[in-house]
Amino acid sequence: MKIKALALLSGGLDSTLAVKIVKDQGIQVEGINFSTGFCLNLHHKFFRKSKNGIFINDALKSGERLGIPVDIIDISKEYLDVLLNPKYGYGSNVNPCIDCRIFMLKRAKNLMQEKDASFIITGEVVSQRPMSQFRQTLFLIEKESGLKRLILRPLSAKLLPETIPEENGWINRDKLYDISGRSRKHQLRLANEMGIKCFSQPAGGCCFLTDQNFAKRFKDLIRYKGKENITFENLNLLKVGRHFRISDKTKIIVGRDEGENMYLECFSDGLIKFKTVDIAGPITIVDGTPVNEEINLIAAITALYSDGKNENYVKIELIKNEKTEILKVKPLDRNLLDKFRI
Ligand code: SF4
Repeated sequence: MKIKALALLSGGLDSTLAVKIVKDQGIQVEGINFSTGFCLNLHHKFFRKSKNGIFINDALKSGERLGIPVDIIDISKEYLDVLLNPKYGYGSNVNPCIDCRIFMLKRAKNLMQEKDASFIITGEVVSQRPMSQFRQTLFLIEKESGLKRLILRPLSAKLLPETIPEENGWINRDKLYDISGRSRKHQLRLANEMGIKCFSQPAGGCCFLTDQNFAKRFKDLIRYKGKENITFENLNLLKVGRHFRISDKTKIIVGRDEGENMYLECFSDGLIKFKTVDIAGPITIVDGTPVNEEINLIAAITALYSDGKNENYVKIELIKNEKTEILKVKPLDRNLLDKFRI
């Protein structure tokens, strides 16, 4: 009977290579891709989809090229607790990388039993990432996920202790690698040798949680809303638009383009909205309950980002509980905006 392994597959270079290396040793591989809801690449592709109508997950594309099945598993709801209460803390922004890896690998461990797989493959490279890929951290993650010696990292395996698949002779250690560090040159050479030409190369990082602007918005949300009141929907709204804090109790998000306006419409059920009436402009959604002067300020910010920014007055529609009201406001002076920006 063929030995089977589960691979954590993102569709990027490292995980694609890791699968190829193991598959070439005669192991049956099945890919799993956990969707946390914070994948930057996926988010950008989703927006691009609205322009060209095509959107295929990178892990699925990679799986197709490698000739393996891939399961996309949505873990976004359970991930909320990992993000809000990480045992091992955050990286340089709000990335709980150690807890994130432990969480995913625990889920993978459960799937191993279900799918009759004997070990796990990851594309991790020793010392490639500052938080989760130091040698000692890799051991910690392995121990906490209950997968001691059952995680094979083909790209760095020769720098790590022998795993059970190697010990049992399912995998030939001589055909594994000793890559470490941040440089991608070894992986690119390997990809070339193995004929792997297509893989995802996300520009500007792959995870919202490592993004500085997202982190600022996240910290603002925690500070003013309180960790215990934060919902998945609140976090979804941190991904798009321009964010302004109007007061301790009120924050607004202004869409930057048509795609973001559509996104904000989708995730703003029950929230107050501001829209321009007879000219092109953004949707502004309000998290909170603005008082009178704040209502005018929000309308003036909405007007500033509309095609009427140089007009004396712009008509803005305020939509609250399915009731609408038309306001006539002067667009806000741009110089006054920065003090509200998150
Ligand atoms: S960057 Fe960190 S938090 Fe984001 S998916 Fe990767 S391991 Fe998880």
